[in-house]
Amino acid sequence: TTDSDYSVIDDQLISSVFVPRQEFSHKGSYGKAAIIGGSYGKIGAAVLATKSVLKTGAGLTFTLAPECGYDILQTSCPEAMFIKGGEQFITNFEIDKDITCGAGPGLGTHSGTEKDFLNFLKDYSKPLILDADALNIISKDKKNLKLIPEKSIITPHPKEFERLFGSTDNSFKRLEMARKKAKDLGLYIVLKDHHTQVVTPEGKVFYNITGNAGLAKGGSGDILTGILTSLLAQKYSEEETCILGVWLHGRAADIASEKHSKESMLPTDVIDALGSVFEELN
Ligand code: AMP
Ligand code: MG
Repeated sequence: TTDSDYSVIDDQLISSVFVPRQEFSHKGSYGKAAIIGGSYGKIGAAVLATKSVLKTGAGLTFTLAPECGYDILQTSCPEAMFIKGGEQFITNFEIDKDITCGAGPGLGTHSGTEKDFLNFLKDYSKPLILDADALNIISKDKKNLKLIPEKSIITPHPKEFERLFGSTDNSFKRLEMARKKAKDLGLYIVLKDHHTQVVTPEGKVFYNITGNAGLAKGGSGDILTGILTSLLAQKYSEEETCILGVWLHGRAADIASEKHSKESMLPTDVIDALGSVFEELN
């Protein structure tokens, strides 16, 4: 461990990572992204993640969700295409290989979903974003960790991290455990917290200082999943995706809190604030 392994995500780093939209471009220039999630009673999570993919600029956006979410998704996200993956929950994860995936929001942990999700992971070889119930399914058996494609990005909150890797005495020990796991498994770990930490397979740690306690509400994490999926589809590297993604998410939350207060701001307001964040960057 050296001091140079640890850094803060500052404005300078963000302006070196962010790539403005090119004039001579078309939707094919900005990638295809899909959210894989939603189940009866948790379609909202898929909506929030899908909207965040759209508002972060992906060229084409899809949602692989169960039929019970069809009307809701097509109405709330008309720009996104629907891929039917089951009836009340997802049992079929088949998706084109050229689509960048973010799996987990509202997915549920039904036994049918579990089996097919693990089979999907077995055959899948490209990096993807894994969050929420995707991580909860994986954490049921430690052997499942090996199924995650190399260079994937996982986004556990402290409880999900504990389910995946076991408990630690304090946040410093948790970070060191994350560095070891990121290296051993070849993964990017986004340790979500008040100051989220991005941990790379090379052992680098980037601290994010945007964001606020107004994010401490159900749905906030689904937005981060959408942002990350969108950036990875747009060909940012995995490391750039994590750095820019957590910063954008937090900055949008800071703008939302100025307007609505930390108490009343909703994840939807965070999505709406993404436009102002990109205006600042451009
Ligand atoms: P999740 O628990 O999956 O909904 O994710 C919550 C998201 O909100 C993560 O990106 C956290 O970093 C962020 N968040 C939650 N609480 C806080 C807080 N008190 N301060 C800053 N960010 C927070
Ligand atoms: Mg979550």
